[in-house]
Amino acid sequence: MIYLFYILCYNINEKINNGVIMVEATNFIEQIINEELESGKVSGTYTRFPPEPNGYLHIGHAKSLCINFGVKEKYNGKCNLFFDDTNPSKEKTEFVDAIKADIKWLGFSWDKETYASDFFETIYDFAIELIKKGKAFVCDMTPEQISANRGTLTEAGKQSPYRNRSVEENLALFTAMRNGEFKDGEKCLRAKIDMASPNINMRDPVIYRILRQTHHRTGDKWCIYPMYDYAHPICDYLQGVTHSLCTLEFEDHRPLYDWVGIELGFNPKPRQIEFARLNVTNLVMSKRYLKKLVEDGSVDGWDDPRMPTLTGLRNRGIPAEALKDFCARIGVSKANSEVQISYLEACIREYLNAHAERAMGVLKPLKVTITNYPDGKSEQVDFEINPNEEVKRTRKIDFSKNIYIDADDFSLAPPPKYFRLKKDGYVRLKSAYIIKCDDVIFNDDGSVKELLCSYVAESKSGNDTSGIKCKGVIQWVNADTAKDVEIRQYGYLLNDEEYAGQDFSERMNKESVKIFNGKVEPYIFENDKNVSYQLMRTGYFKRLDVKGKEIVSEIVSLKDNFNIKK
Ligand code: ATP
Ligand code: MG
Repeated sequence: MIYLFYILCYNINEKINNGVIMVEATNFIEQIINEELESGKVSGTYTRFPPEPNGYLHIGHAKSLCINFGVKEKYNGKCNLFFDDTNPSKEKTEFVDAIKADIKWLGFSWDKETYASDFFETIYDFAIELIKKGKAFVCDMTPEQISANRGTLTEAGKQSPYRNRSVEENLALFTAMRNGEFKDGEKCLRAKIDMASPNINMRDPVIYRILRQTHHRTGDKWCIYPMYDYAHPICDYLQGVTHSLCTLEFEDHRPLYDWVGIELGFNPKPRQIEFARLNVTNLVMSKRYLKKLVEDGSVDGWDDPRMPTLTGLRNRGIPAEALKDFCARIGVSKANSEVQISYLEACIREYLNAHAERAMGVLKPLKVTITNYPDGKSEQVDFEINPNEEVKRTRKIDFSKNIYIDADDFSLAPPPKYFRLKKDGYVRLKSAYIIKCDDVIFNDDGSVKELLCSYVAESKSGNDTSGIKCKGVIQWVNADTAKDVEIRQYGYLLNDEEYAGQDFSERMNKESVKIFNGKVEPYIFENDKNVSYQLMRTGYFKRLDVKGKEIVSEIVSLKDNFNIKK
């Protein structure tokens, strides 16, 4: 039976065609790949993830990574990590290293690590070839003049007066450009395409500019640099890329991508396919703006747990698996949209609910003395590590006369159906006993200082013969062993999506961190730093270093309906 099921699934998901294993497509990119495999246009896949090393990767890049490496995994293909370093003014080796660490953290491994700068010499040779074909010319117009003459969506552009320079003159001038004989911006190389094209990108775009900038890899070897739109198809081709997957804003650049491939006779010519960018409510998703936040000190660096950078998400404690699951669930589409942050949170919770150990901690400690529990006595109670585990495991927690509960779990004026602790009311301490609140001690200002409670000796969890029906269960910590710690709840940098459309600076959430002087079980300091815990009835937490201080920080809250405290 199981075998039959396997055969059925096998037939549905994969079929062998011309010796190529076909995989069932789950999105439009895979559909295209399948058609190409079937028609024999391609015999396998080669993709690349193409970051510009000018900042840290963010959650949007995770989507691109999942798509590019997803194709590799699905089709048993290859995928390179390709650094698009054609813009030396903003690029740094620090970013290269951070990008590599982030990709490894997500669990992807690239076949080759490549750089646009590896190909600078060939890219230059191809430019010579274009000049020789009469398809490129050296232009003396300034960048301002070029853009003033580009025309508009409804009006054709004006041809450059330098457009009809001879091949010989262009070759001589381009060589002189390379040799540093002109000032920055004094000349450029432009593709000769069509100033009347309805697509402005095709109106004799600049393909090389003069720029005296030390490059993070090639140093001062070059004073001319190729433009992205020209270099990218060449780099794809030289790496054997079959499918150049990018975001929708490059759709209008595809004709130029194809023009380069056709004019230079690329065979096979890589195919550019665009997909929608990921936008998530409440998250800033622009490298430029994230950089500003780091530089103006609004956050504690690129790895601040509020940052949507991969290093920030990792530091916050978001599991790589949950992030990949999120990317898989939002799918790949051709239409831009904004995904709710709650969707990401749901994926994180689902993962942590299954994997995180439970522990106890209180954000707002309220002292409880169990008056009828013997002085100096301590006993151990069994605490379940994770109720979702198939094979149940427990660990021991110390219980004694002096404990702390969360101040929010006690009410002097309880609403109807209040199942937590109230004067003369009962509540169960998780994994321990039922207690009753007999008396309240107040501070001078009238706030609650301490609760005097009695415990029901026959009500021990797992062996309760008390007969007391008690609906509320609350967490607690043992006062003798609990660790005092700063507990933080981080929010997001942007206020809700109702403010969408407003400038980031107007949408900034001014209260993106809440700080508590809490208490937690010592247990969570016994394991490796990066282990996540569910602090019962509160949220998922992990330890975190903030400017040299160790705190306990929330990864994600529990579901809202568990988290309503008042
Ligand atoms: P930013 O606008 O944040 O600076 P970028 O597009 O300039 O991002 P790159 O380093 O060029 O950043 O991006 C590398 C790859 O990741 C590109 O293929 C790009 O299209 C993709 N990418 C960037 N942002 C997103 C996003 N929000 N959703 C999906 N893919 C993205
Ligand atoms: Mg970019």
